Amino acid sequence: MMDAAQVIARCHELAAITDIEGETTRTFLSPAMRRANDVVATWMEQTGLTANMDAAGNLRGIHASARENARTLVLASHLDTVPNAGAFDGVLGVVMALAVAEALREEPLPFTLEVIAFSEEEGVRFGVPFIGSRALAGTLGETLLARTDSVGITVREAIRAYGLDDATLSDAVLHNAVGYFEFHIEQGPVLEAEGLPLGVVETVAGQSRYSLIFTGQANHAGTTPMDLRHDAMSAAAEWIGEVERYATATPALVATVGSVQTLPGAGNVIAGEVHATLDVRSSNDATREDAAAHLLAFADACGSRRGVAVEHTLRMHQVAVPMNRALLRLLEDAVDSVGGTIRRMVSGAGHDAMIVAPHMPAAMLFLRTPRGLSHHPDEAVLPGDVELGLAAGVAFVRALAALETGR
Ligand SMILES: [Zn+2]
Repeated sequence: MMDAAQVIARCHELAAITDIEGETTRTFLSPAMRRANDVVATWMEQTGLTANMDAAGNLRGIHASARENARTLVLASHLDTVPNAGAFDGVLGVVMALAVAEALREEPLPFTLEVIAFSEEEGVRFGVPFIGSRALAGTLGETLLARTDSVGITVREAIRAYGLDDATLSDAVLHNAVGYFEFHIEQGPVLEAEGLPLGVVETVAGQSRYSLIFTGQANHAGTTPMDLRHDAMSAAAEWIGEVERYATATPALVATVGSVQTLPGAGNVIAGEVHATLDVRSSNDATREDAAAHLLAFADACGSRRGVAVEHTLRMHQVAVPMNRALLRLLEDAVDSVGGTIRRMVSGAGHDAMIVAPHMPAAMLFLRTPRGLSHHPDEAVLPGDVELGLAAGVAFVRALAALETGR
């Protein structure tokens, strides 16, 4: 079986394939994605898988079961990256899936094993993520296909320009899945802080994102007395303090104001306008909704005390997505069977598993991320964690095969 060093070497090999020289950047159906797909297709064939590309640009390596009417087990993650990415986000899941397929290649399996390298997860080119997994789930709608990139090319046109047939997009949908399994780096500091190599994802957190505009009155910083001001900055600042206080005091909640712009933005002028963002996430939808309602009302109150108007707009909304309970327990048993510690966790980031979970039983295994660093060139994994993750993945597929055989 491929060992951890080979897995890591392959991730670095793919990291060198880039649209922008000197960094790692690959976006949906870009020239670098074509080269990365060629490399991964070769690896698939070497692993005894038959490689095909669906109309959404997903590279799919299939090891067909000898069983009649066999269902399909998917092992997948994504090959696209954020700008100036690390070597492991997404790619590790694809390369580890291939290693598991290789380990099992001589075993008769009661399901067809399909390794999928998704074409798009990060949302960089079209501003909407998960194009690849949406195609698998059958939720790639007309609105998304009509979206344009920065030079006005639609998703549909990009598919045609790559040489794919958009008329066959419905063939990308998987209907008979036993399950979906994804390895992914945690992209956060939790496993490292606890000294654990692996985490079993129980839920992908829901999220709400808003933009806010605080509108007061720009005026002279020297001549306007404090009690006669309409200071948009002070209103926003008081509100930002509450965002941190409230989220810190609320279990299973994170909330972030990640961007603030002030107008006119001069040291001797009271701010007339502040544009801010709010990102609220929780594994519990009620907790998230309560938090959003409280924080928006608090912003209004901070404004009204100062004669500052506050507008808010919902930009994005996603409910929490639980992973499949039966697969979760099977995965925990697999981790335990190879000597790992069972640690359930919530994923604060969105993943392909979240897109497919409403359509097929899904499970996800996190690997510790050194320094919690991701979406960064210094992203890393530890060889021992990869080794343990592979062993757990193989044990998981074997356990699932035993269940499917008795079905
Ligand atoms: Zn990812």
